Amino acid sequence: MLDRFRTQPALLKLDLYCKGARLDDSCFIEDDGGRKILRTRAGLGSGLEVILPGDRLHPEMWTNVPVTEPFAARSPYSIHRRPDPGGVYLLRHEGRDVTPIRLAPRPEWYDQLTTGGKKMTQVGTLQGTYLGIYQAKVCEYWTQKPTKVNCKFCSVGLNLGVDDADEKSVDEVMEVVRAARRQSGITYVDFNTGHYDGDTYLDLLIPFIRRIKSELGLLIGVQTPPHRDLKRYDELRELGVNRVSFCFEIFDRARFRDICPGKDAEYGLDHYLEAIRYCAALAERGPKNEPWVSNGEIIAGLEPSISSIRAIEWITSVGAIPTVCVFRPLVGTDLAQREPPETEDIVPIFRRLYESCMEHGLPIGCAPNVHVSLVALPEECASLSSRRYPWQQLKLKVARRLVRRRLERRFARYDRRALSAERPAA
Ligand code: SF4
Repeated sequence: MLDRFRTQPALLKLDLYCKGARLDDSCFIEDDGGRKILRTRAGLGSGLEVILPGDRLHPEMWTNVPVTEPFAARSPYSIHRRPDPGGVYLLRHEGRDVTPIRLAPRPEWYDQLTTGGKKMTQVGTLQGTYLGIYQAKVCEYWTQKPTKVNCKFCSVGLNLGVDDADEKSVDEVMEVVRAARRQSGITYVDFNTGHYDGDTYLDLLIPFIRRIKSELGLLIGVQTPPHRDLKRYDELRELGVNRVSFCFEIFDRARFRDICPGKDAEYGLDHYLEAIRYCAALAERGPKNEPWVSNGEIIAGLEPSISSIRAIEWITSVGAIPTVCVFRPLVGTDLAQREPPETEDIVPIFRRLYESCMEHGLPIGCAPNVHVSLVALPEECASLSSRRYPWQQLKLKVARRLVRRRLERRFARYDRRALSAERPAA
């Protein structure tokens, strides 16, 4: 098994999601420049951000290893700091060395305050190498009377106000985005909201999107419920948004109803699917210089694997790209007592994720410097499949090179402009 981890790093990433790891007493994560373990993010990111060695196609794999949940305390994996200077970290499995790992670096801006005195990490945090911002107040499924109808795996209502600030002005967000661009080289900002009565989530985000696009030219993603007026996504496409993501989580209708009661009552699974299909078709329209993807997000481990595979096949059939998280029973959530899935049950899901994206010729892995820690990306899962797609790989290689070159030039142009705006006039 340990040998397979070396040749199939995606397998190790998935096994760590399912089993977590124990932190040995020798570890001094923050003293060694690592990121504090935060509870924030819509449900699934509660762990230690590390970088695993990758393979030929992906030299490194960023991941978020569960370390705080009870199941992690029983894990065969442990993380150790070698006593030598430099603080090299090691991943072990039942006492045997698996691989050296690196801590995801904590940037200086993590310890800085905004002009208004707020900790910058209360405004946004890095997830892998992109900036994630949970914008606006807590999802209203958590505050619904007489009974809350939150998704049962979700921890957002437990988190806001703890690690995350609930009021974030455009200027505050811009300060953090600039710091993250300057110090961490981010290329992508991801906004995430829950449900608000009156479908106000897109209206709330538009001022942020306009400022980031006009002042920094970065890639932007928006993860919200599916707006009832799908024409609103034409507007996002025109504004230069690059990714819309709809989290329906579960394809099995009965389980969707049970686990996501708010989503079921408010929008229903069919509207989520229609939004994904509608937005995928927008790729052919809108500004040609702005990449565009529509994502359907599911959670592996909350329904039978075959149902997750059907979801992947449906999403890719309409030209959208699946995002597949692994269920993590977070402390304090309604599903905290459940077990995470078994690795062997989710491997076929991630194998199919890669294969289905390749079979439909979808543009995976094109954005520059976007490493995602909370999910295994389709392109990272190539080593799980024995199928080769030489023609499609070649097309992707050319597309990636063109898109990255174009975007890197654009980011550099905006950086120069931002720098000269900051310089005092002579
Ligand atoms: S929609 Fe569900 S997953 Fe998203 S924030 Fe609300 S309760 Fe959490």
